[in-house]
Amino acid sequence: MICPRCDGQGVIYKVILLNKQVLLFICDECEATWLDKDRIELANFIDLSTFLEINGMNYEESEIENQGYVF
Ligand SMILES: [Zn+2]
Repeated sequence: MICPRCDGQGVIYKVILLNKQVLLFICDECEATWLDKDRIELANFIDLSTFLEINGMNYEESEIENQGYVF
């Protein structure tokens, strides 16, 4: 799945954020992040760093398990 934010530059991959046991869908280029695969739209992304911050952690503290690219 191509990222709608960076216009063909990035591809969306799926991860599990182990700290929170949630699925995230992240662009490998711009790190735009979505929580719902069915609603990956330009209008509703959140930056990964912002999402982590909201959840009380930073990159170093986050445990992200890559589940591969989303097709
Ligand atoms: Zn992107």
